[in-house]
Amino acid sequence: MRLVAFSRSGDVGLGALVPEGVADLTAVSPSLGSDMHQLIEAWDAGVVARSLALAPVHPLHEVQLQAPLRPRRDVIAVGRNYREHAAEFTRSGFDASEQQEVPAAPIVFTKATTSVIGPDEAIVLANDPTGTTDYEGELGVVVGRRCRGVTREQALDHVFGWTIVNDVTARELQRRHVQWFIGKSPDTFCPIGPCITTRDELPDIGRSWVRTRVNGDERQHMPVSSLIFDVPSLIETLSSVMTLLPGDVIATGTGAGVGIGHEPPVFLASGDVVEVEIDGIGVLRNPVT
Ligand code: MG
Repeated sequence: MRLVAFSRSGDVGLGALVPEGVADLTAVSPSLGSDMHQLIEAWDAGVVARSLALAPVHPLHEVQLQAPLRPRRDVIAVGRNYREHAAEFTRSGFDASEQQEVPAAPIVFTKATTSVIGPDEAIVLANDPTGTTDYEGELGVVVGRRCRGVTREQALDHVFGWTIVNDVTARELQRRHVQWFIGKSPDTFCPIGPCITTRDELPDIGRSWVRTRVNGDERQHMPVSSLIFDVPSLIETLSSVMTLLPGDVIATGTGAGVGIGHEPPVFLASGDVVEVEIDGIGVLRNPVT
């Protein structure tokens, strides 16, 4: 299932993408609620499938998709998790962290919940006073169950599904403040969507590719299988010290081809449109203003 959050004529609801549009799960089963966290925590595939079969379908042009979930705490993100990107980041001079080029352990940081926006919402350049706004197309992992101490082998059992995150970054803030939080957290700098594809529908995420386009020009393309630290490894590492919660989002890192990988760097400009596409999930499209 490809689950979405949407608004329509002022109402908000949860639905699933179907060929004709959005099947309105909330309309047929109000008890499912309109908060994706609630749906994940109480997940019952049978109930949702029965609701789906009865749900009225709205054409896509009648609804506005929203971020499929508003994370309850900061988005967990991973840096330098593809080799070629790690190399381009070092070459760019925008990395003040003085880490070795290819990390020995995952580099983990967070993005403020207030930076999250949904599909088609604008990335607002005015929120980055340094004028160095860059894109990073990434696979997002949505945690399904509260967990701690999960092994690699068990890790995927705790994944609810997959989404797309554009880890938009203010490069000069990232460099100036050393710790990445501020450069990663300006308002509107965390587009998420367009849906959450449940894991049963996309069991082998390693076969999917991530592609980022700016104004239709392909800038990034990398298979998820080329992550340095794969999804089971990230869940094992994080859960070894902290409790993961249903609805947590883990942005797994970006590949080569970001703006600072160009010589000279190419930053986002007003009027640009950024699209991140992942096979089996969809396209996350955001205009830049
Ligand atoms: Mg990133």
